Amino acid sequence: MKTIYMDNNATTQVATEVLEAMLPFLTDRYGNPSSAYLFGGQVARNIRDAREQTAAILGAFPEEIIFTSCGSESDNTAIMSALNTGKDKMHIVTSRVEHPAVKVLCNELTKQGYRVTEIPVDKEGRLDMDRYKESLTPDTAIVSLMWANNETGVIFPVERAAQMARDRGILFHTDAVQAVGKIPIDLQNSAIDMLSISGHKLHAPKGIGVLYVRKGTKFSPFLIGGHQERGRRGGTENTASIIALGKACELAANRMEEENTKVKALRDKLERELLRQIPNSRVNGGGSERLPNTTNISFESIEGESILLLMDEFGICASSGSACTSGSLQPSHVLRAMGVPFTMAHGSVRFSLSVYNTEDEVDFVIDKIPPIIARLRELSPFWRQEGQVC
Ligand code: PLP
Repeated sequence: MKTIYMDNNATTQVATEVLEAMLPFLTDRYGNPSSAYLFGGQVARNIRDAREQTAAILGAFPEEIIFTSCGSESDNTAIMSALNTGKDKMHIVTSRVEHPAVKVLCNELTKQGYRVTEIPVDKEGRLDMDRYKESLTPDTAIVSLMWANNETGVIFPVERAAQMARDRGILFHTDAVQAVGKIPIDLQNSAIDMLSISGHKLHAPKGIGVLYVRKGTKFSPFLIGGHQERGRRGGTENTASIIALGKACELAANRMEEENTKVKALRDKLERELLRQIPNSRVNGGGSERLPNTTNISFESIEGESILLLMDEFGICASSGSACTSGSLQPSHVLRAMGVPFTMAHGSVRFSLSVYNTEDEVDFVIDKIPPIIARLRELSPFWRQEGQVC
């Protein structure tokens, strides 16, 4: 059975070009880039090139790029650095819909006496900018707001928010894990101080990330050890993955146009047809500016998890907005923050496409989903109670 992969916000396939670029560093070019001899020194030069490729997609300087192990490490490093360098400040501003890499860390920090303000979003997932403005105080050490939401694709006005923080002398970090490669980013003329990337969301392998730190920003390392990354992140470089990420950033920059035309057109067709054919369905965040590849659709009165199981029988991969935790199906914190009604939030499915998806695949999914939803609704006590059996 063919796999129809529409879960690219979870992870992506490694691009062939990326694999080809990294393979020599897993075979014959294994030298340690810190070594004094040429065999290692050459690898150091390849890392320098990858740093330039990575900086280019952000409009950044190469020395502002710190290679990390993943997006979560980058997010943690940014927040902890701000707290360590802004010693007496005890307040963090973030949003209600952040990824756990930020959200859970902030929850933990409250146990250590930090105060965290989570800015609410409206029913379309848009950030409440008035509340944001009010939340910025002289005690605020850092603002951490995601650029684009992983579940809905909703884009936050981070440039504007960063400028408001800078005007008050507050550091601004953005988790751009879902944004990089999908929408243009230019940090040259921006007030963003720190930004996180994850390689496996843009066709590089898992286990590589980046933290961008603007020149002149006070920084305190999270991983202390060797002198690597100019003393900002200890640990022998993950050479092959760094080379891979550099190549992936170069590819993503070249494909940005395709992402915003071909991928967007496929996403729009999928969304349009599913909404047309399936009653009582809606797009979460559909009224907001969104990533071109993501759609989060709620099908009323059924469980997202059941939809995924039946889709799996056809090889279709996507995600649901509910997760089975301790025996109870909890709708996601993102959909709850948006006030999506219970019976809608439970039946949500996120499809996230990539440049590798085809129109045939989208047509296949459009063909398979409506009967799956009809079948599940037949079995749903909620659907029957409402007398809406279709
Ligand atoms: N931030 C966002 C918005 C994400 O979607 C993810 C991954 O799903 C992460 C951070 C974490 O990235 P990583 O898996 O590289 O730790």
